[in-house]
Amino acid sequence: MKTAARPQVYSKFVQQVQASQVQRVMIRPNQIEYTLKPEFGGQSYYTQPTDRRDDLLSLLQSHSVEFTTLTNTNTDTNTDTNTDTNDTNAGILGLLLSLGMMLGAFAWLLKLNKAGGGVGSGMGSGLGVGLGVGRSNARTYSQGKTGVTFADVAGVDEAKQELQEVVDFLANGDKYRKIGAKIPKGVLLVGPPGTGKTLLAKAVAGEAGVPFLSMSGSEFVELFVGVGAARVRDLFSRAKRQAPCIIFIDELDAIGKTRGGGIPNGGNDEREQTLNQLLTEMDGFDGNEGVILLAATNRPEILDPALRRPGRFDRQVLVDRPDKSGRAEILRVHAQGVILGEDVDLDAIASQTAGFAGADLANLVNEAALMAARNNRQAVLMADFKEAIERVVAGLEKRSRILTPLERQTVAYHEIGHALVGALMPGHHKVTKISIVPRGLAALGYTLQMPETDRFLLLEDELRGQLATLLGGRAAEEISLGKISSGASDDIQKATDLAERAVTQYGMSHLGPVAFEKNAAQFLDGSSTRRTISAEVTAEIDRQVKHSIDQAYAMALAILRLNRNLLESATQVLLKQEVLEGEPLQAILAQVQAPTELQAWLTNG
Ligand code: ADP
Ligand code: MG
Ligand code: ZN
Repeated sequence: MKTAARPQVYSKFVQQVQASQVQRVMIRPNQIEYTLKPEFGGQSYYTQPTDRRDDLLSLLQSHSVEFTTLTNTNTDTNTDTNTDTNDTNAGILGLLLSLGMMLGAFAWLLKLNKAGGGVGSGMGSGLGVGLGVGRSNARTYSQGKTGVTFADVAGVDEAKQELQEVVDFLANGDKYRKIGAKIPKGVLLVGPPGTGKTLLAKAVAGEAGVPFLSMSGSEFVELFVGVGAARVRDLFSRAKRQAPCIIFIDELDAIGKTRGGGIPNGGNDEREQTLNQLLTEMDGFDGNEGVILLAATNRPEILDPALRRPGRFDRQVLVDRPDKSGRAEILRVHAQGVILGEDVDLDAIASQTAGFAGADLANLVNEAALMAARNNRQAVLMADFKEAIERVVAGLEKRSRILTPLERQTVAYHEIGHALVGALMPGHHKVTKISIVPRGLAALGYTLQMPETDRFLLLEDELRGQLATLLGGRAAEEISLGKISSGASDDIQKATDLAERAVTQYGMSHLGPVAFEKNAAQFLDGSSTRRTISAEVTAEIDRQVKHSIDQAYAMALAILRLNRNLLESATQVLLKQEVLEGEPLQAILAQVQAPTELQAWLTNG
């Protein structure tokens, strides 16, 4: 019985795996297909993965699900037009398949070994297949066909300006060649995920009207040693034939990681060979031939320094998250295809979405449009945007998920705890909504605190206030239920990170204004590497972090003990209504009393 596979949301898929309802899974680069066990209907579904591949594999393994991994990019259901069909000989294919199976199983065993996991715990078949060996899978977009122009990219004016130059090199190469100027070969786009790096690269090709050969770094790296290198060679030779054109390597970090330091034969060999080939190719061509290499990464710090030498990626363009006016521009771009109601104020939406990247804003506009359509409206209203902001912030609403009464109560106390503590803290975060309607997978409930402005500076008292607010959830559980749940783990993680940054980066401790983390190595995703420091100082940092957290937690407890009755009554209201916002919420928050020691702690710690 083979019924057509149906679409499924990823969170549901994870639930089904966890409930041991899934029989087998096929993992493709962009899509997961799976089939339920016969006793659960045997239906097949497909879904889009959202978490890291490693997480998925260990989940499947721990629930004894049979699975297959297909790394071949030709079988994926990607809608990009792949004009480059790989003619693969069927005989060789069979051989490769079985070879791939052996290698895959071997790699899987190695992995299990490394993870210290037991063998035979529902291993299934770890099948890695590399097809189309040696030919790059670069998707070729013909002349100007990316269809993207600079008008489609907003809020990143500086990046656009720098890339405008590249467009000119490509479109009017002769002008530069005649005068003897050397055209740069490689431009690296650096920035957090979703800021429009891929979009910009396509726009450069679109503006210059040249072919765009794109490939993702992870597509180069296959199980077979030598394949990636062959693909790099192939990609460059095709680019030279099509010049002027753009080669775009997305996720450069997947091949461009610093060489060395890996165990031999542990899979690093392949990546190093690929990287070496890339370096060789970059040295072997000349920007004046009309090929320009663009690449994107959100982890520039892990790139091999050789990539940045002169004559390689000697230009870097920062593509950062947009500021408020940038967000408004991006919203305008994406609102073009949508019918907006009279009351929609895109500038107001921009001020409520600090921290959103372009991709989040695109998603927001679409969510709002979906909401309006679902409500049979003729136009998208401000209310739809408000709801969509919450969705994008906290994941999709899922009223259907049922919590036990105790869980619900715990979540309600927890969220009220955040809100009451937060109400007394300085800074520009205002609690605007508390909800115990579960959203997405991660958040059971949430307290919406929207910064009213982009914050670039955090004052010491605000930082303490944020720590106490984060810990307010756990404190409320302890006070009202006498026990604590695992629901606060994310808060605790965030509080610890914040406290550590206060000591190591902001110099806000008795250790003084010494940066224990090198700012230069502060990465775009917010992580950073610590400068080499002595064991004593490390221990002192740990002590200081623990001290800040302990104090903030004690303050959260003191506040909630003082406001015990309010904590109770507000929680009861929340349990009844599920959502607290507007006037009623502000009325509750206005009643919170501050302990006498609060002010002193905020100013002096
Ligand atoms: P990145 O490559 O930096 O992760 P993408 O270019 O893939 O981000 O962005 C994903 C989508 O988000 C784009 O296709 C576009 O719809 C939207 N987007 C991202 N940044 C911008 C921007 N600056 N202006 C307009 N749309 C954007
Ligand atoms: Mg991208
Ligand atoms: Zn919390």
